[in-house]
Amino acid sequence: MSAVLSLRGVTKRFGGLVAVNAMDFDVAEHEVLGLIGPNGSGKSTTLNLISGALPVTSGAIALRGSPITQLPAQDIARRGIARTFQLVRLLPSMSVLENVMAGAVFGHRRRWGYEAEAVAQTMLEQVGLAGRGHMAVGQLTYIDTKRVELARVLAGEPRVVLLDEWLAGLNPTELEEGVALIRALRDEGRTIILVEHVMDAIRSLCDRCVVMASGTKIAEGTPAEVLADPEVIRAYLGD
Ligand code: ADP
Ligand code: MG
Repeated sequence: MSAVLSLRGVTKRFGGLVAVNAMDFDVAEHEVLGLIGPNGSGKSTTLNLISGALPVTSGAIALRGSPITQLPAQDIARRGIARTFQLVRLLPSMSVLENVMAGAVFGHRRRWGYEAEAVAQTMLEQVGLAGRGHMAVGQLTYIDTKRVELARVLAGEPRVVLLDEWLAGLNPTELEEGVALIRALRDEGRTIILVEHVMDAIRSLCDRCVVMASGTKIAEGTPAEVLADPEVIRAYLGD
């Protein structure tokens, strides 16, 4: 497997707590990798380490074989890793379009001016927000703020997309739309790490899953394999 992204022995301590413990996994080109596990198992922290939002305590992270382990977050974004946050983070004083343009300006291709706007408009269409670029972010419904965040990520023209519970908090109709949106990204051949709790979405979207519990990888395989694994079931039942 030619890995786009690889983690080797990646560990993060917060004082005495080992939030991520010697994580090893690869993400192949065009793969949708589910990163799953109970609350507090270290999924968001793992994304924070990959995106450079937090420094690793030890271990190595590589993008297409080049180490990115101790790079600042903005350099990692430049190299093509873009992420959404579990709690949506947008620039509230800027319009929808400006928020998405920011993704293009600070992303992998460093688009500027008209080019950044053109990319942003394309991505707004892709997430179903065509014609709403002029709106203030504060006027949007919750799902639309999530769409804007996804458009911002895509506007960076990333090589790897990290989605942290992007489907969380959606009602059943929105969830269907959200799953369809991610499926479209998958069909485009994007490389994605999907941190998710919605089991149906995991089953239908992921090629492979890595399961974490208490910071450690406890299983890896197809969704069907890991969701039938007794250790995974035990971890989710919480004993
Ligand atoms: P998940 O996303 O799987 O729910 P997290 O990665 O958010 O889990 O958290 C893993 C563990 O690390 C939890 O015990 C959490 O309280 C702890 N943790 C996360 N971020 C920090 C931080 N910045 N400082 C201290 N502890 C943290
Ligand atoms: Mg989390």
